[in-house]
Amino acid sequence: MGQQMQSLGPIELIVLQGTPFCNLNCSYCCLSEESRRQTAKMPDTLIERIFEQVFSSQFLGNKLTVSWHAGEPLVLPIAYYERAVETILAVRSRCGRDDLDLRFHIQTNAVLLDEAWCQFFVRFRDIFDIGVSCDGPAGLHDRQRLTRAGGPSFEQVQRGMGLLTAHGLKYHLIAVITRASLAHPKELLDFFHSKRNDISGFHFNFVSELIAKAPTLRHDAEDTRLHYEFTRQLLRRLRELGSDGFKVRNFAQFYAKMFAPEQLRSGNTGGETSFPFRTLNIDVHGNVTTFHAGLYVDVMKDVYGDGQGFGIGSISQQTLEQIASSERLAKISSDFLLSQRACERDCSYAPLCSGGYELVKRKGLGTFDASETPECRLHVKTFADAMLDDLEEFMATNDERATSHDAAVSGANGANGANGAEPARIDYGEMLRMA
Ligand code: SF4
Repeated sequence: MGQQMQSLGPIELIVLQGTPFCNLNCSYCCLSEESRRQTAKMPDTLIERIFEQVFSSQFLGNKLTVSWHAGEPLVLPIAYYERAVETILAVRSRCGRDDLDLRFHIQTNAVLLDEAWCQFFVRFRDIFDIGVSCDGPAGLHDRQRLTRAGGPSFEQVQRGMGLLTAHGLKYHLIAVITRASLAHPKELLDFFHSKRNDISGFHFNFVSELIAKAPTLRHDAEDTRLHYEFTRQLLRRLRELGSDGFKVRNFAQFYAKMFAPEQLRSGNTGGETSFPFRTLNIDVHGNVTTFHAGLYVDVMKDVYGDGQGFGIGSISQQTLEQIASSERLAKISSDFLLSQRACERDCSYAPLCSGGYELVKRKGLGTFDASETPECRLHVKTFADAMLDDLEEFMATNDERATSHDAAVSGANGANGANGAEPARIDYGEMLRMA
């Protein structure tokens, strides 16, 4: 038990569910429709209790982000967040942790943003980050991000993003890519690229089989081709437009895995993204989960036969130390470890994979002791193949250009010129070993 506690954390991210209620009804939401209709609110007293536990915990490091997510945070009044921030800062001082680098974050659908919210974010801009969910231009966004009445939400989201920009507030954009969006890489990239001066970052997520209500991952030849072409087209379009300060985090992380020195690569490997107690999700009632941001007790409720999903305890009734040393956490950790060992043993793409597929394995294959899932084939392997092929094409083109440039400079006209040069070939095996 002691050994388990030593290998936890440090806690870097706490995701708080202020309320499960949402003003939208997106077709791929990870929360059940039933919970999204609940208007429960995390009480102020629970917030205080959580941070009394966290700030005096042995698992806390030097940096912490507190994020409100899982339900639309802006349905709660501004005063709620003013009190929460004030409380959290006061508890930090009381616990003697003023040295802690603490940031706050809200993930919003942007529909309810107005002048008052912008004023709030301006006031707290030094400590508060904003994330906005938008799936692209209207024709793509409005396929799945619908109002409760089934209407489109894009116009309201655009208005919200425009208000943030008018107040000089940058936001991180997140898009969910569905099977239908895969046919529109250029429209998507052009749309997000057009926001480059307004945003602090951008990344996309493929819709997960785990939460999709209809099967979206078939992994037949058609789906593999769609995913492969989608990534290749995004990269080509990005090169045509010129990045101009616009970065796609999915690509940047891949290149970092390939080329960055080891110390800069940490935090994004399969094992690290599923490490216990780095992220704590705490729902409106105080139920705690760990491993992945946004994993709530709603997801795969009966996986351990008790309706608690991957829940590891309740911070309303237990201390963080009790939760950390629980048999429940030990059991889930050992299941996740089994999954990671299978990846290391069986999968040649493991060095390029960010992991996080434990739940999909258990749900789709019935065991944690498994490697490849349909999601792996499309989201990791096909993505990596497309990235590597793009890199090879890019390097071969540049090599040809460089060769003809050299030839022109030296005045050579045959044997060593562009026509006689072999384009550089990339040894993927070597690159994977390097990564
Ligand atoms: S692609 Fe799948 S099997 Fe391979 S390392 Fe990632 S999760 Fe494991």
